[in-house]
Amino acid sequence: MHRELLEILQNYNTKIIMNLKELLHKNELTKEEIIFLLNLIDKEDQQRLFNRADEVRSFYCGDEVHLRGIIDFSNYCEQNCLYCGLREDNYKLTRYRMMPDEIIETARVISNLGIFTIVLQSGEDYYFDTDLIAYIIYQIKQKANVAITLSLGERGFDEYRAWKFAGADRYLLKHETANPKLYSIYHKKQKLEDRLSHLRFLRTVGYQIGSGNMIGIPMQTVEDIADDILLCKELDLDMAAFGPFIPSPHTPYQNKKPGNVELTLRTMAVARIVLKKVHIPATTALATLDEEGRIKGLNAGANIVMPDLTPSPYREQYLIYPDRKCINDNPLSCKSCLQLQIESIGRKISNSRGDSIKQKDRLTV
Ligand code: SF4
Repeated sequence: MHRELLEILQNYNTKIIMNLKELLHKNELTKEEIIFLLNLIDKEDQQRLFNRADEVRSFYCGDEVHLRGIIDFSNYCEQNCLYCGLREDNYKLTRYRMMPDEIIETARVISNLGIFTIVLQSGEDYYFDTDLIAYIIYQIKQKANVAITLSLGERGFDEYRAWKFAGADRYLLKHETANPKLYSIYHKKQKLEDRLSHLRFLRTVGYQIGSGNMIGIPMQTVEDIADDILLCKELDLDMAAFGPFIPSPHTPYQNKKPGNVELTLRTMAVARIVLKKVHIPATTALATLDEEGRIKGLNAGANIVMPDLTPSPYREQYLIYPDRKCINDNPLSCKSCLQLQIESIGRKISNSRGDSIKQKDRLTV
């Protein structure tokens, strides 16, 4: 009797494993299948998911890891997102703006380190108007052979056009959640449909576009995360970022729980399987919550790392969330540290700009 029961259980387990294997190799996944994968909690099943994501990443993106050097040049923001430490109503934050020539010089230093994408990031700060941002882009392009990603929030359509003309290559605008009700709770003045129309416009004027969500933000369900992945697919993104929520002091969500590291890794892995030819970063937020977060992310489908190379004393004041990983590293030691970590898993840092993997397909259409 005991042996029969054991056989039934073994057959049952084999059937689940077979089904999981089939599921992980399907070309298209339904929302229900995505939810099933996001809910995997058995360690061995999770490892199968991560291994499959790693295979898909290697097949579509290769084994190189692209670095994107971030310059957080202003922490002023006119928005009031409930989760963000830079929100306008956070009067405890010391605000700063880097001078244009300081930004341009920092970009030059980063490119000399062998990092070929500069991410110019700020809150929604209209002090940096159309012309000033265009000037910074143009000057960086004159001095360094780099791609430029802008991450400046929702700005005017004419501004996007002007900055593309000045030489910008990519725009990062996270959708944060595909659930319109949650979106309007988190963002008050902003609407999800506007954000999506901005992303679509950015694509039409020739930007490579990046978006993504936060895992574990208050009220979010696993169904919402599945919708986020499907929205990334519908938007045909070039980069998709999934980082854990980290509560920030002096915000309405300061006492909420941070996002779960394992759910974040499962989300990245499922996104890799669903989205395939897309850049996925192992985020600093993930590395902040878990010492091994970057490596775990790179082994679960990621192929990008985005070190914050904002010079001191500004870097410490870009407090989207507290205790950011590597906040005190200087750029040189940051690059060598990342190189060691990346080489420890048999991968290497790319010497290219790491443009969209879809670019060739788009050119041939
Ligand atoms: S998430 Fe962006 S737009 Fe919202 S408050 Fe923070 S910096 Fe501003």
